[in-house]
Amino acid sequence: IKERGKNNYQFFSDVMNEDAVQNLQLERELRKALERDEFILHYQPQVNVVTGQITGMEALIRWQHPVRGLLSPIHFIPLAEETGLIVPIGEWVLRKACQDGCRWSKLGRLPMRIAVNLSLIQFQEETLVQNIQSILDETGLEPRFLELEITESIAMHNVEQVVAKLEQLVKLGVQISIDDFGTGFSSLSYLKKFPIHKLKIDRSFITDITSDPDDASIVSAIIAMANSLKLNLIVEGVETEDQQFYLHRLGCFEMQGYLFSRPLPVSLLDQLLEQWV
Ligand code: C2E
Ligand code: CA
Ligand code: CA
Ligand code: CA
Repeated sequence: IKERGKNNYQFFSDVMNEDAVQNLQLERELRKALERDEFILHYQPQVNVVTGQITGMEALIRWQHPVRGLLSPIHFIPLAEETGLIVPIGEWVLRKACQDGCRWSKLGRLPMRIAVNLSLIQFQEETLVQNIQSILDETGLEPRFLELEITESIAMHNVEQVVAKLEQLVKLGVQISIDDFGTGFSSLSYLKKFPIHKLKIDRSFITDITSDPDDASIVSAIIAMANSLKLNLIVEGVETEDQQFYLHRLGCFEMQGYLFSRPLPVSLLDQLLEQWV
């Protein structure tokens, strides 16, 4: 038993070392990925189910890794946040998304908002507002077509600072949306303090919405709250028609999810937009 215990421990520590080595390797590669132009953006349409129009596109980053193939953001965004690399990566995302948005606008595809995920670390950068301003100037995207998705985690930080920063962003003319709404541990009082435009109800409440009365109650409460606070609303993770109809009945009209489209590269989206009525 003693020996086995030891072996197990040995095994465990080898795995940890391997993980640590892999992480270091990944970090080195992540540092080079920007220069090597290895990131790409996929976009997922946001649909108004009443009009059938595409009202927005969420930009979602992927890493075209030379060896490991297409990597999902869950495999490198946490590391990018730990190392601070999320700041230059996030700036690249903003610039690329604004360029693509502008291109769609010239093709007559707008009004369509481009939603970009903003990490808390990026949000806290002092130069964020300036950077967004220059990216908007440089790309020519109308500010009202840019939507920044931030999570409730910002509410856990210095409220005055957060409000000041949000107000500066709103002054630029961009839209602010609270992502993964309902999953944070913060008090809801930030909703009256922060200048925000939209709530995005987290997928975890949608998955079982047609069968779980608790999820349904939570979602209707959020919808009622968004309506009375005059906030726009979108749900994410809609995968089935049952979910769509159910949410529509509850009073939610803007949706995003595999039911409408997976996140796609620009070339495939151009085709989708051609066919979209
Ligand atoms: P998120 O912002 O909550 O994005 C939604 C995620 O749900 C995306 O995963 C999307 O592909 C996935 N999804 C969309 N519809 C459905 C559906 O109907 N069912 C299911 N099961 N999933 C659906 P993805 O692209 O892997 O992104 C994961 C997370 O990585 C994002 O979650 C976001 O937090 C982060 N992320 C992605 N791109 C960026 C970025 O450019 N910057 C930052 N800071 N974070 C990003
Ligand atoms: Ca998001
Ligand atoms: Ca989300
Ligand atoms: Ca989520």
